[in-house]
Amino acid sequence: MTQATRFTTLAVVLALGAGAFTPAFGQAGGQALGPEQAGGIFADAPEGFIPPPLHPGGVTLETRRLGEGVYALMSDKPPTDNSGFIVGEDAVLVIDAHINPEMAGQIIESVRRVTDKPIAYLVNTNYHGDHTFGNSTFPSSTTIIAHAATGARMADFEGEWRVMLVTVSGDTEVLEGVTLRLPDITFDERLTIDLGGRVVELYHFGAGNTPGDTVVYEPLTRTAWTGNLVIMGSAPPIFESDAATYLRTISAFASELDVETIIPGHGVQLDGAAQLAVYQAYLGDLLTRVRQQVREGRSLEQALEGVPLEDRWLPEEGSALSGIAPLMRGFHRLNVKRTYEALAGDDAR
Ligand SMILES: [Zn+2]
Repeated sequence: MTQATRFTTLAVVLALGAGAFTPAFGQAGGQALGPEQAGGIFADAPEGFIPPPLHPGGVTLETRRLGEGVYALMSDKPPTDNSGFIVGEDAVLVIDAHINPEMAGQIIESVRRVTDKPIAYLVNTNYHGDHTFGNSTFPSSTTIIAHAATGARMADFEGEWRVMLVTVSGDTEVLEGVTLRLPDITFDERLTIDLGGRVVELYHFGAGNTPGDTVVYEPLTRTAWTGNLVIMGSAPPIFESDAATYLRTISAFASELDVETIIPGHGVQLDGAAQLAVYQAYLGDLLTRVRQQVREGRSLEQALEGVPLEDRWLPEEGSALSGIAPLMRGFHRLNVKRTYEALAGDDAR
């Protein structure tokens, strides 16, 4: 699929969920909540950064069959979270638990419409609350699996709760009933899970959006659930790494796995190879441009001005997708900052 085609597909879906892209910081107790109040990963974001709008109100997860026993659960209001599940002869594995008990309940109901086999495994692709706050809703017999760094980060439940509140416009009702449930099993690089007559592979290729980003790969359909590591658009949000690190991670992913379909944590279904190539191109370009700024002795402010998001990475002007442009520009400014700081602190540059 070409980039243009992909953006056309995105445009249709985003037009339906256009309201979700209105940049809005939340109101709580009459006080505006900005990124600085949230702390955590948003605390030092540069001006222009917009936290992703993830309010699950009115969201339906639509079941999409990708092959025998392989199902994506696609949010009908992107960029709220997608999920999915894989059914073996003995058991079911679910990918991501969504943001609260209500949404986790939707995932469980979706599984039950397809099979009555036990949900033996739940994988958290990263530690963020929109992927983990539904954990407690799954039965105690469900084994929760995550990368070791994801498990470690999840321990700061209160910190993550505050960050999540910003992404749901300060609506505390969304987070009512959410309790901490940590992973039962953690892994470091890869893990294979046998569901009976079918295996699911978990991979950690390195840090990207978070330190513990995990890819869930189903080899028969060559589908990869990518959590926050790969989402819609051409500029991934580099919350907790830098362009060089993210590029290494994506390159390892692209060279190790033959991916036909990506179900991103946020956004529409993507062509695997094409999306990974777009990410590699964007990240390589970002790294080159920021490195130039650092070599010329520019300040961070100057680098932010000197490395704008080029039009070629943005959806076409006037298209239904153009509503996503402010979100992408904000991500890009954060990406410049993260990369600048990494390079400026690296004597070997
Ligand atoms: Zn996410």
